[in-house]
Amino acid sequence: MKVNIIYPKQNFVHLNSVKLSENISLKPYNTFGIDVKAKNFIEVVSVDELREVYNDKRFSADKKLILGGGSNLLFTGNFEGLVIKNAIKGIELINEDEDFYYIKAAAGESWHEFVMYCVNKNYAGLENLSLIPGNVGASPMQNIGAYGVEVKDVFYELEAFDVNKKTITKFNKEQCHFGYRESIFKREAKDKYVITSVTYKLGKQPVYNTSYGAIETELKQMGVVDLSVAAISKAVCNIRNSKLPNPKEIGNAGSFFKNPEVQKSKQEELLKAYPNIVSYSLENGNVKLAAGWLIEQCGLKGLRSGKTGVHKNQALVLVNYGNAKGQEIYDLSQKVLDAVKEKFGVELEREVNIIR
Ligand SMILES: Cc1cc2nc3c(=O)[nH]c(=O)nc-3n(C[C@H](O)[C@H](O)[C@H](O)COP(=O)(O)OP(=O)(O)OC[C@H]3O[C@@H](n4cnc5c(N)ncnc54)[C@H](O)[C@@H]3O)c2cc1C
Repeated sequence: MKVNIIYPKQNFVHLNSVKLSENISLKPYNTFGIDVKAKNFIEVVSVDELREVYNDKRFSADKKLILGGGSNLLFTGNFEGLVIKNAIKGIELINEDEDFYYIKAAAGESWHEFVMYCVNKNYAGLENLSLIPGNVGASPMQNIGAYGVEVKDVFYELEAFDVNKKTITKFNKEQCHFGYRESIFKREAKDKYVITSVTYKLGKQPVYNTSYGAIETELKQMGVVDLSVAAISKAVCNIRNSKLPNPKEIGNAGSFFKNPEVQKSKQEELLKAYPNIVSYSLENGNVKLAAGWLIEQCGLKGLRSGKTGVHKNQALVLVNYGNAKGQEIYDLSQKVLDAVKEKFGVELEREVNIIR
């Protein structure tokens, strides 16, 4: 078996004052670009460093926030605790069998760069998830998904640091309790583990998924005749670049709300009043409604409120037009929730993690 190891050795490194910053701005560390401060901020590059932080008495009373790329959170005020930026790097092919490659990536790797690493090697399964911002460590947190694929479809296992026992624990797919933008790490296991690496099981024989969204149209426009992992990845990147606001230009965290799941009877009731309602049937008999459509019908798409707004092309995306406070974006999200509830009797749920 050919093994390609570029996983760095995790040497024991003493924490030092260079890495610990006090009272620093988190503006560069969140894609909303919210300018709040962290009382303490530290970057860890190995599991040993992470363990040291959790053993360090200076921080034992501090509330802690694990930070990846900051692309799925909203700070509503200063963080009066310790922000731990997970910067553990490395990608390793740990195993392969007849059908699959098992690729382990450390939590601090950029998600998109990891996807590109796999695409370039023709490891199949992650191509539809190209160009999602953030880091590998957060990918199982909300079971990231796009263009008909979710992390759970290719997930093998993860390693996480248990903050109480200070040991590394493995979680297989079943133990992660994946759901739609959900996992055990957002619920029962919240704040109890720091994910340190994730292993994906990627196919040797690609099973292409082009049915979702505009992938097929884009492939045609690209002139693709023979499908490939690389072509699908490129098509997804093109679509995303044309549709989604770039956080480097306008602060946002992608979809702010989840698509709500309602009972069939509720959908039928809504259909009478709104025959064009956008919905998808689920295996459990319930129906998922398109939150973007609901928000648009409330007349909120493109709404501008002070320095915040609902994006003009993507009603699911709330934006910071510059120097908005996190609380202002939160208030706008409440306005959206209230409007949808009043018009349709449907409760939207925030997808973005609110950090107080
Ligand atoms: C333009 C744009 C488009 C997006 N498109 C999509 C999309 O198509 N599909 C999708 O699913 N998401 C999408 N997102 C949301 C976001 O990119 C993903 O949720 C991503 O996985 C977040 O990763 P992150 O490293 O930035 O996490 P962060 O924002 O840093 O953290 C998110 C949460 O996870 C926790 N966390 C982070 N790392 C760890 C760790 N190692 N261990 C334990 N907890 C941790 C944090 O404490 C926080 O609660 C989009 C965001 C943007 C800005």
